[in-house]
Amino acid sequence: MDTPKAEKIFKAGEIIMSQGELGACAYFIQEGRVKIVLEKSDGNLLDMGTRGPGSIIGEMAIVDNQPRSATIQALEPCKLLEITKEDFARSVKGANPIVRLISQVILMRYRDILRRSETLTMDDAPGIVSPEKSEREYAEQINVVESIKLANEFKVAIARGQLFLHYQPIYSISTGRILGVEALMRWQHPERGIVPPDDFIPLAEDSGLIIEASRWALREVCAMLTRLDAIRPDLQGLYVSINMSATDFEERNFVDKFNEIVTESGIAAERIHIEITERLLLKQPTDVKSTLDRCRELGAKIVIDDFGTGYSSLSYLHRYPIDTLKIDRSFVSDMRNDKSVLGLVKSIVTISENMEIDIIAEGVEVVEEANLLSQLHCDTAQGFYFSRPIAEPAIFELLKQSNPKSSTS
Ligand code: C2E
Ligand code: CA
Ligand code: CA
Repeated sequence: MDTPKAEKIFKAGEIIMSQGELGACAYFIQEGRVKIVLEKSDGNLLDMGTRGPGSIIGEMAIVDNQPRSATIQALEPCKLLEITKEDFARSVKGANPIVRLISQVILMRYRDILRRSETLTMDDAPGIVSPEKSEREYAEQINVVESIKLANEFKVAIARGQLFLHYQPIYSISTGRILGVEALMRWQHPERGIVPPDDFIPLAEDSGLIIEASRWALREVCAMLTRLDAIRPDLQGLYVSINMSATDFEERNFVDKFNEIVTESGIAAERIHIEITERLLLKQPTDVKSTLDRCRELGAKIVIDDFGTGYSSLSYLHRYPIDTLKIDRSFVSDMRNDKSVLGLVKSIVTISENMEIDIIAEGVEVVEEANLLSQLHCDTAQGFYFSRPIAEPAIFELLKQSNPKSSTS
């Protein structure tokens, strides 16, 4: 039967991989035992031992694309789980650059030791790149120095007041009124100019600095609402959506801190919408659920961002306290050209109607998308068509036009 993670069966005696060939996958041994043999250039065989269930074999080739360094043969009937180069590349892409660099360097040094055990003059052999050179080239290729520098610089960004927020309005398509705004973080770097969040949020998450940055953002959002209330006391219904990452949720006192900041500001927690991604729900389901429940008890609303792009199981929609789904912008941009995407958007609308969950369409760029969403009963939307994320004074100005003060006599 075809399973998404391919299982491979080998009979006793069968060769699983041969030294020198290019390998496209590694294997996780589920059952059975294998023998690893390395053939030296003088033709002598070097016994590298055996491996059994729980071991990984053939991992080197998928890490650095080099030919297999040994031959592996099944000693017993073996059941192996394939890990493809693509699977691995996807995970590596998302990993911390320091982890990537160190795993790569360990591998390069191991290959170097293998080569040196063959002959002591390998450094002079044609076609062999010195390990120092390949390590340096790899470090350059993954931009590790840049990432480490940026991560270090981010440490002082909050203290030096280099972070600021832009706000993107979220509209009701039918009334043209702004219902809320999404707060999006920006970093005014002294030399690089404005650094977009995609370049610094992952680094801040890795280092844990995101926790401090998110608290700063929450304080700033509450302060903005207080300033807005001072000039527009009629807009009490306007909310702010704030993005939170998995790292924020792992912090034990996340809810207490959230409560402390919001209570201190005097802003009603109902006006704060917490945006999280589906992936977070899959992390530590029970912890995340109790954190979300407590946020909700305080009054905050829970929004699932980029809905439909994660490894979603619809069952979480009723397991978790969710108020709003944000339809990912890739669906919005494809729905007019791709019938299956349109079907997907329709299904999300139907599910949300049945479950009484609100929906917001993200990334609306043209009027045709807004019109179609409206026809599909998705009336709430944000995107460049309405407005790009803008600074606080600009958003206050926009509110004057879209949500004018009702003329009271
Ligand atoms: P996101 O939460 O999905 O935010 C929406 C992103 O889409 C924003 O990018 C926004 O500028 C962009 N966008 C809005 N409308 C359109 C449109 O019509 N077309 C296109 N092409 N893009 C549109 P931005 O501000 O660069 O943020 C990128 C991501 O960084 C965010 O994606 C979010 O995941 C993360 N992020 C931003 N601010 C924060 C924050 O304060 N905390 C955390 N944890 N993450 C944040
Ligand atoms: Ca978001
Ligand atoms: Ca989003």
